Amino acid sequence: MLFRQLFDSTSSTYTYVLASRVGGEALIIDPVRDQLEQYLKVIEELDLKLVHAIDTHTHADHIIALGDLRDITHCTTIMGELSQAHCVSQHVHEDEVVRVDGIELRAIYTPGHTDESFSFVLNPNAPQAVFTGDVLLIRGSGRTDFQGGDAHRSWDSIVNKLFRLPDMTTLYPAHDYKGWTASSIGEEKHFNPRLAGKTESEYVDIMNNLHLPNPKMMDVAIPANLACGQPPTL
Ligand code: FE
Repeated sequence: MLFRQLFDSTSSTYTYVLASRVGGEALIIDPVRDQLEQYLKVIEELDLKLVHAIDTHTHADHIIALGDLRDITHCTTIMGELSQAHCVSQHVHEDEVVRVDGIELRAIYTPGHTDESFSFVLNPNAPQAVFTGDVLLIRGSGRTDFQGGDAHRSWDSIVNKLFRLPDMTTLYPAHDYKGWTASSIGEEKHFNPRLAGKTESEYVDIMNNLHLPNPKMMDVAIPANLACGQPPTL
């Protein structure tokens, strides 16, 4: 399989390009508008046909590239069924499988960081990897204090959905701030400091006392991303 993990250093966002082969159909997960040229270069150099552009949730810290990729490549734009983004061409529901040639991703509803977040399991019949957006990060988890976030729902999504995947499932989050690039479900069960050995109420207490500042771009990014990354016209 062809797998590329790309990084936007401004927002510390990971973007993933998946295809089964050079010259084949591809999909992209959580693309950042500032990195559009890089995505188009990868697509061109590997002779890929971009079929789907997926966002795990409405990002608050960067402007997304779904709209530009759709306009340039004519790909489908995909988000979860509860997304308010009016420009999304396909809303996926629980257990729906997104396909390109040779690649299958199963959508699972994992609210908590936002109320509309989905994760995507690669090769659902024998899970190889899971793209968790921000609900589960490497040795951390996405904040739960805005965009319909809820620490109880975050716990439920992580413990009762993501942690039921096989321990060897590779974890690919949408962000990392410390240089981690991947983890696994088993590693996070044992070493995630917010989750390992914690009760739900302890987790909720941690999440409700993070006191994080709002993302710098939040006031611009959320309205822009509800339009698939087109900045609002004044
Ligand atoms: Fe987020």
